Amino acid sequence: GATIGILGGGQLGRMLSVAASRLGFKTHIFEPGANPPAGHVADQVTTAGYDDVTALEAFAKSVNVITYEFENIPTEALDALEALAPIRPGREALRVSQDRLIEKDFLSNLGLTTAPYANVESVEDMVAAVASIGAPSILKTRRFGYDGKGQARLKSSEDADTAFADMQGAPSVLEGFVDFSHEVSVIAARGVTGEVACFDPGENVHKDGILDTTTVPARLTGAQRTDAILLAGRILNALDYVGVMGVELFVTPKGLIVNEIAPRVHNSGHWTQQGCSIDQFEQHIRAVSGWPLGDGSRYADVVMENLIGDDMDRVPEIAREPGATLHLYGKADVKPGRKMGHVNRITPATK
Ligand code: ATP
Ligand code: MG
Ligand code: MG
Repeated sequence: GATIGILGGGQLGRMLSVAASRLGFKTHIFEPGANPPAGHVADQVTTAGYDDVTALEAFAKSVNVITYEFENIPTEALDALEALAPIRPGREALRVSQDRLIEKDFLSNLGLTTAPYANVESVEDMVAAVASIGAPSILKTRRFGYDGKGQARLKSSEDADTAFADMQGAPSVLEGFVDFSHEVSVIAARGVTGEVACFDPGENVHKDGILDTTTVPARLTGAQRTDAILLAGRILNALDYVGVMGVELFVTPKGLIVNEIAPRVHNSGHWTQQGCSIDQFEQHIRAVSGWPLGDGSRYADVVMENLIGDDMDRVPEIAREPGATLHLYGKADVKPGRKMGHVNRITPATK
């Protein structure tokens, strides 16, 4: 059987490995950190850094296709890997999503709406950005931000100096604050032959910058739901994308605004594990291995809740709850803000 190489051994890599093995594939994880969550379920693990070209080449030679669970893979590592095995989703998706400025330019050029934004690489840029975007606004580092890290909010233009200092010189974008009613995301998939399939959009609530819950169905009109799915398809087609992508959207009275895209399976797609017969992890494995996409129709209403840090104390209770399915990542130490697991609570589909 074929072997799927996965860069990154966190919970997403773990759930991808489980899905792959259910389809008869072997998995090989590449992960710099010791004792990764995916290591317990994968067939093989390489523990090495992304600067270790010998290890990268041996990894690439041992697999038939390479995919990843996070987007910040160094360019040099990708160069070494790409010579030896196909990388799916491809390099263009990574180039675009590794940098918030490039990503926003890409989305705007596609005719999609983003928050107003401006590049900030110097004090002068910051002054100009605040003059054009104003406040409230958010300054975000262009690279490496996640779970709301690397962001500073400006309540008024007087916060500009502190916000700029918070970025410690990292190239950033200033984004106008979007007055949204709620947040939704589309988990979309595209196969090697170009077919596109989207899961039903989910509604997301964040707590302290981290995803707390995803609920399906999301509160959307029929027209908004169609818009969400069509714009996701447009993004995937433009990138000649292969695999699953998460597209985060703000819902406003004037229409949908694209917040950001993630070229991988996405936390807000975990509900599909209990809501659909083919979940986002299997869908991704199908796409990157050249299989036809699966049927992602939703047959239950689901609320996914992340279990973060001390939420783990509630696991014994949740284990007794009817309709609740637990997914625990097997992480040894509980830390505040650390994603330890999630629970999907299902009820019969209402629509
Ligand atoms: P993730 O973990 O999803 O990758 P991230 O660190 O990349 O998060 P964003 O998704 O950019 O961060 O922002 C986190 C949250 O902050 C958003 O889901 C939204 O609630 C809020 N937010 C971000 N940008 C804006 C904006 N321009 N206007 C209003 N709220 C925003
Ligand atoms: Mg992000
Ligand atoms: Mg986000």
